[in-house]
Amino acid sequence: MSQLDLRAKLAILADAAKYDASCASSGTTRRNSAGGKGLGSTEGMGICHAYAPDGRCISLLKILLTNSCIFDCHYCINRKSSNVRRARFTPEEVVDLTLGFYRRNYIEGLFLSSGIIRSSDYTMEQIVRVARLLREVHDFRGYIHLKAIPDADPELVRQAGLHADRVSINVELPTVAGLARLAPEKSAPRIEDAMRDVRAAIDDGADAGRRYRAAPKFAPAGQSTQMIVGADAATDGDIIARAAGLYDRFRLRRVYYSAFSPIPDASAILPLRHPPLMREHRLYQSDWLMRFYGYAPREVAEAADPVTGMLPLDIDPKLAWALRFRAHFPVDVNRAPREALLRVPGLGVKAIDAILAARRWRRLRLADIARLTASIARVRPFLIAEDWRPVALADRADLHALVAPKREQLELFAA
Ligand code: SF4
Repeated sequence: MSQLDLRAKLAILADAAKYDASCASSGTTRRNSAGGKGLGSTEGMGICHAYAPDGRCISLLKILLTNSCIFDCHYCINRKSSNVRRARFTPEEVVDLTLGFYRRNYIEGLFLSSGIIRSSDYTMEQIVRVARLLREVHDFRGYIHLKAIPDADPELVRQAGLHADRVSINVELPTVAGLARLAPEKSAPRIEDAMRDVRAAIDDGADAGRRYRAAPKFAPAGQSTQMIVGADAATDGDIIARAAGLYDRFRLRRVYYSAFSPIPDASAILPLRHPPLMREHRLYQSDWLMRFYGYAPREVAEAADPVTGMLPLDIDPKLAWALRFRAHFPVDVNRAPREALLRVPGLGVKAIDAILAARRWRRLRLADIARLTASIARVRPFLIAEDWRPVALADRADLHALVAPKREQLELFAA
């Protein structure tokens, strides 16, 4: 295969992979290649992520093995009936590309997914072969994220986990009904069975690692999944509930949200327009509230509009919750426990840690808090400081307008 052919394949298969958002590489243990042993260790320099403006990770070589597929998922540009140019790498070509890009310092690792060729087992074998060649033949110690195919033999998925830092299995749609309608060849129970198997293997690997230092690691950066947002009628409340259930049952590292993109020659059952990208952003914020701010899934869902089930787009979900449950405010920054401070809109985890450290020595004034937040005007209705107490917060009908970010007309030619 000539170099030009490989470039053409790369153009097709890197473009086809861009719809998968689940490629962050956080949380891995690092393989040591000190002393000139091996290749691609992240030890000592760490993994430096590059994110595109839309939030997607670009520090990995992110490709499909092939964009041919025997399935016909309505939302997917690579589905069987799609009229796109097809390409397919051999496992050896993926290995050569990964090593070449790594040596040129373009990437820190590989994110590999694939359409389904011939069968789920055959495809999974090919994916595992790439990882095995990289690890065992080339001693590659960089990051590898493999997409597992839920219908594949669990033994193949297990082998993938032995070579990969992270394994992910996409739930695809937030609801079982949405999956049945838009991806009729996929099965929600099979997807969840595969995630359960991966979870069990991760637990077993961690347990073995505690008892024997030399025990093989299984997906040390855990498993993640992705949900497509806006391709079906699922509300933000549905999505939050599904994500919470997945975190709870499979202890996922991350749930990624990918706003549906209309595709050429789309099926008539798909929406004609993509959802606002801000919707994806608000869902990520709601995810953070559950993972880092102590909100129960039910509480995050309460930030959504009770009629539509959708999170507001003009304000973040933490602020939306505070406006809805004003009786919890104002919070006294000099006395309140950490859990109450975490509820104050505009105060992040670092700011709260700084408040807790500083108040051991002195009482905090509004100016002290102003140094920890982007806009004290938005934060002050929700807190009490040594020299500040908001008046009649709960009674102000115009509070939403006061604290919501102002809409601005952007200049077309602004620098
Ligand atoms: S199985 Fe994956 S690649 Fe194939 S059509 Fe469905 S979503 Fe697309």
